[in-house]
Amino acid sequence: MMILRPGMANLEKVISKKHVEGMCRLSGFVFLHDNGKKRFAKHTITGEVIELTQKEYDLLLSLKDSLQPADKICSMGFDVLLNKRYIVSENYVEKDHYNDILAILRIMRTGKNRGFSKYTILPTTACNARCAYCFEYGFVPETMTYETADRVVDYIIKTKTDGKIRLEWFGGEPTVASDIISYICNRLTSKGVEFASAIVTNGSLISAEMVEEAVNVWHLNKAQVSVDGKRADYELRKAYPDKRFTYDVVMDNIARLADSGVRVVMRCNLDRSNISGAEEFFDDAYERFGKYENVRMYLAPLHQEMKLDSITTLHQSIMDLYDLVAGTPKDKLIDARIPRGGMRYNYCFYDAMDSAVIIMPDGSFTNCENLPAGHNWGNVVDGVTDKELYEKLRKGVYLDDKCSKCCFLPECTATRKSVCPVTNDWCYECKVIDTVYELEHLKISDVKTDDEDDGQNEDDPC
Ligand code: SF4
Ligand code: SF4
Ligand code: SF4
Repeated sequence: MMILRPGMANLEKVISKKHVEGMCRLSGFVFLHDNGKKRFAKHTITGEVIELTQKEYDLLLSLKDSLQPADKICSMGFDVLLNKRYIVSENYVEKDHYNDILAILRIMRTGKNRGFSKYTILPTTACNARCAYCFEYGFVPETMTYETADRVVDYIIKTKTDGKIRLEWFGGEPTVASDIISYICNRLTSKGVEFASAIVTNGSLISAEMVEEAVNVWHLNKAQVSVDGKRADYELRKAYPDKRFTYDVVMDNIARLADSGVRVVMRCNLDRSNISGAEEFFDDAYERFGKYENVRMYLAPLHQEMKLDSITTLHQSIMDLYDLVAGTPKDKLIDARIPRGGMRYNYCFYDAMDSAVIIMPDGSFTNCENLPAGHNWGNVVDGVTDKELYEKLRKGVYLDDKCSKCCFLPECTATRKSVCPVTNDWCYECKVIDTVYELEHLKISDVKTDDEDDGQNEDDPC
């Protein structure tokens, strides 16, 4: 066996077992993959990836459906697979063990920090584009008032964790209310609050003056710009009523942001009809941004596609597109967004209520930007106003039966299946496609140290 990617040291310490007795089987937290040339095993608790010999692979495969005594496995020289919990005692209960480790992780993290470290703020739900797929479609647009912005600042000062915090500007199109962003940032700075910010934007309104403001006042270090593939697909989908906002304008604005040192990640939304133009988009993006070290892109299925049984085909097509550029100069643009393996203690904002909050334009809180209705449990003036709902949302994530038997549970957490509106019945099949891609394109440089990765999902996967 050869370690291709080491696991998280803290989690290895928690799960390793010096001595195992009795009959044993394959752990339910192991994903096996044979591509005809190499054989891989991934432990989804620690994130470790190993390359197996044929003998080791055959043993693990056989232990999926049958038992073997621990002493026989040791006498064959495979004790390390027992110590690292690829092979476990027949009485090992994955679900219980998972819950115990999760509790330890959460205690370790709460001990480190108190208060919120991340605030996602929607200065407006208005937008200058008209995407047919917009989740805001049908909502009456609302923009934050200066009075509410003052309350947001007070709330942040009252509830923030020690040290630097992260602000994320989301909408609608947050730059439609760039004055509110500047107002909040200026007030935080005047109160001595240290922060860095990120923005999720369509990029169309980013002028030279705004970039200067963004860098110096918002302390912007990351922008996620949503795009829709090649020029014709982009312009059709964004459907800006003001025709001055074109594909070229947005691409130029991306360069403008990158030139000022902001890291730009393009999220290219794909569905069954624009995926055929994705290659043309790759070519253009590479021509424009190939020279930049701070521009990357990833491909994501549109939310509406997630509920269709064609999602696995779309998902596979996305991986095939990544494959197409793998090993070519264009590869440097790709940030495939396959999360680094290993256990997470949260999936997104929904189950990170102790460390992050989403603030709507009226100052109310939610913990899922795609489920604003019925998820408002408080506001910046009164704090928690609906204790019952707050507790229900905080503790209400249940472990789905399918997840409790799935090797990907430590990576998905219970949240993905039990509450996320963007999940689907093909989550396992999509996870397999992602994981096979991950194993076959492992970059050791992607590995984070324990200090850099405390198990919290920093980016919202939705
Ligand atoms: S750019 Fe974003 S917020 Fe604006 S209409 Fe499109 S999806 Fe909605
Ligand atoms: S959400 Fe799907 S892939 Fe993830 S653990 Fe549950 S069943 Fe498995
Ligand atoms: S990942 Fe799902 S549950 Fe979490 S914020 Fe996004 S849509 Fe909501």
